[in-house]
Amino acid sequence: MRAVRLYSAGDLRIEDIPDPGHPSGRDVRLEVELAGICGSDLHNYHTGQWISRAPSTPGHEFVARVVEVGNAVRTIAPGDRIVADSRVPCGICATCTAGRFYLCAEMGFVGEVNDGGFAPVSIQDERQLVRLPDQSVSPRIAALAEPLAVALHAVNRLHPTPGDAVLVLGAGTIGVLVAVVLKHLGIVDITLSDVNSERQAGASSAFDLLPFMASDAAAFDGCVDTTGSPAAFDVALAQVVRGGAIAVVGLYGRPLTLDMNRVVEGGLRVSGCAAFDGELHDAVGLLSSLTEPLERIASTTVALDDVPKTYEILSSGRAPVQKAFVDPFL
Ligand SMILES: [Zn+2]
Ligand SMILES: [Zn+2]
Repeated sequence: MRAVRLYSAGDLRIEDIPDPGHPSGRDVRLEVELAGICGSDLHNYHTGQWISRAPSTPGHEFVARVVEVGNAVRTIAPGDRIVADSRVPCGICATCTAGRFYLCAEMGFVGEVNDGGFAPVSIQDERQLVRLPDQSVSPRIAALAEPLAVALHAVNRLHPTPGDAVLVLGAGTIGVLVAVVLKHLGIVDITLSDVNSERQAGASSAFDLLPFMASDAAAFDGCVDTTGSPAAFDVALAQVVRGGAIAVVGLYGRPLTLDMNRVVEGGLRVSGCAAFDGELHDAVGLLSSLTEPLERIASTTVALDDVPKTYEILSSGRAPVQKAFVDPFL
């Protein structure tokens, strides 16, 4: 079968690989419907930070149909539609033993520690799979469940109250999903900022958000920074009021220097957002009620052969879309 294969930083290939065959034990054979390309896929491609085995088929944001199950599988049956839980915690470290799997220091991800969804077929342990409560949800909406969980976790970490003014930095997938979640929670004063003015304008009008206008005065109670950009974090520090909060969900390509006194003297609460905790189950439950705003996310769908080219376009930061999906059957 055709598959996208990551060999090392900067080395992504399309290859024919053997079909993974019948599942055994708790494994499930899946036919992938649609898989999203994530910012973390691009980060791993450029830095190689999480390459623990090579080559590997990336893709952790996917919706799939169960075609066959191993003899020990109990929770999922052929015909079920599922999404992958991208996180593969070690299960034995101190945080895992305490039940805080999402903070596992040895955390691996689907598509990194095993072969993921950028192929027509994937084999996953049933514990990596979440059955869609609404089996009729479209592939395009279902494939957003995992990034929606990331957005829910970021908003939970920010913990805004209804009257808050919130600044969202970055109009990529996570940025607009954060805005969707904030609106769902009843937050009305939401401002969106992106250095890609076309993407900012498109997302601001599609989701009825205010475009960011720089001002000297701090004007926001909270900020979710989805960018991984040192310049954006400086904006967050300057624009959040004293006593406000910043939730950081972007991944940084390098360590940064920052004016820590702004955090100390401003009494700011800065929260790191590591993937998600229980929010994936919340996310799949919300897909049906959030279908209308999720449909507004600008996306493109590409074939396996076009994935390397699409990585480059997305990495340039000039893509007008929030999400690129891979359809392995195109
Ligand atoms: Zn992701
Ligand atoms: Zn662990």
